[in-house]
This record gives sequence, C-alpha cells and structure tokens, in this order.
Amino acid sequence: MRTLLIAGNWKMNPISTETAVALAEGIKTGLGTATDVHVALCPPFVYLSRIDQALEGSPVGLGAQDMFWEAAGAFTGEISGAMLVDVGCTHVILGHSERRHGLGETSAEVNKKLVAAIEAKLIPIVCVGETKEERLAEQTEAVVLEQLSGSLAGLSAEQMAGTVLAYEPVWAIGTGLTATREQAQAVHAFIRGWLAQTFGEATAARVVVQYGGSVKPDNAQELLACPDIDGALVGGASLKASDFLGIIKAGQEVTALGKP
Ligand code: PEP
Repeated sequence: MRTLLIAGNWKMNPISTETAVALAEGIKTGLGTATDVHVALCPPFVYLSRIDQALEGSPVGLGAQDMFWEAAGAFTGEISGAMLVDVGCTHVILGHSERRHGLGETSAEVNKKLVAAIEAKLIPIVCVGETKEERLAEQTEAVVLEQLSGSLAGLSAEQMAGTVLAYEPVWAIGTGLTATREQAQAVHAFIRGWLAQTFGEATAARVVVQYGGSVKPDNAQELLACPDIDGALVGGASLKASDFLGIIKAGQEVTALGKP
C-alpha cells in the first residue's frame, strides 16, 4: 500500500523569512506527530535552513524546488544535491512546468538532475503534464509519455520505486481549474500502466504518483480517493496553513477509509 504524499510547493513565496517560518510552524503544529500521510514543504532555497530548524521534531519533510546536476564547482547560481542534504532536505521537485515551460527545461536536463538527486539520496518529485493546447489536440498521453521516458531514462526498478511522480496538467496550475477526478485518474492510470510496462508490475505498484493543479481543501478528498492518485503537489493552497492542513486532513480521511 502506498502512503499518500502531500507536498507544498511555495514557489517564490513568501517574501520574508519571518512569514516563511510562521507558515512552517503553523503546519507543524497542526499536523502534530501524525504519520498516516507523508507531508513535505518546499520553500525557496534561501529559507531551507531556517525552515529545517523550525520543523525539528516533526515528521514533515523538507524539499527544494530544483537543483543542479553537478556536485560542486564553477556553476554560478546553481545548488547541488549534496548542498540540499546539508541544509536538511529530504525531497526535491524536478521538472516543474514553470521550469519546463517558463524556463525551457528539457526532459534530458530533468533526467540529469534526477540521477544527481538519487545519488545525493534525496527523494525526487518529477513533474509531468500537458498544456491546454496539447490536451485539446488530444496529445495528453503522447506529451506525458515523452516527459516520462525522457526524464526517467536509465533508472533501475529500485530507483524508480523511490522516485515520486507528479501529474500536473499545466492548464490547472495556479488557474483555479482542476482536472475532474475522471480526467486525473485516467492520466494516472496511463502513467501506472507505462510504469508497469517499463519497470514491471511490482515496481509500478510502489511508485507514488501525486496530482497537482489547483488542489484545495474542498476538492482534495475526491481527487485523493482515486485509485491511482497517491497524494498532491500543492501550490497556492500550501501558502495558508489552514488550507494546507485541510488538504492533509482530506488525505488522512481517505487513508482511514482505505483506498480501492
Ligand atoms: C504547483 O505549483 O505545482 C501547483 C500545482 O500549483 P497550484 O496548486 O497553485 O495550482
């Protein structure tokens, strides 16, 4: 049985350390010591150390929003996996659509980062998803397939089992539009099928595949109840402790009821 992972992607927010720490502390207090659902916070790089201190004694994981594939050296502005581990990170988001589409990141680059993240013993969260135009042109599966095969190239079955995927339709990110549970489950089932074909059924059954795209407390439960949706990658709603805790609570309720 897969444990749900609810991760908050704070993106380039909030704008002060004080607010960031208060947000992390609010989530830590609200969650307590519950471990029925895995939770991770992914703040901007500059807050990682401080948030790591704030989360001490809590089961909440700490994630970065990106990393570079080299371990160290003359790479101005870049941050390595070892550096992230050194400041307390357990997770790292890779290939978010704001990097793929906004900054031109390719699946080949995501793959190099993924290999380095695994080497650094971070839990990678690899994002895939189609744009609105691609969905309308019925290219969703082809796009997701290209992103999966390019980003996950060369992984062993064991490495795949330890990698989290996030299906995030680009048209649903930050727009208030959410995929229906049928739309989301269909792509998640497609991803699970590809994993089974590529890495074997047993491995596919172990991979956590999150959904992301305007997840809120009021739509979280129906999405998280889908058989192939194993958590949520949350942007906007992770910036308010009560909203993020509401999504975690939905995950806890779905877990208590038992997934199909
Ligand atoms: C995200 O940034 O990964 C995301 C899903 O954002 P939002 O929840 O705001 O749509």
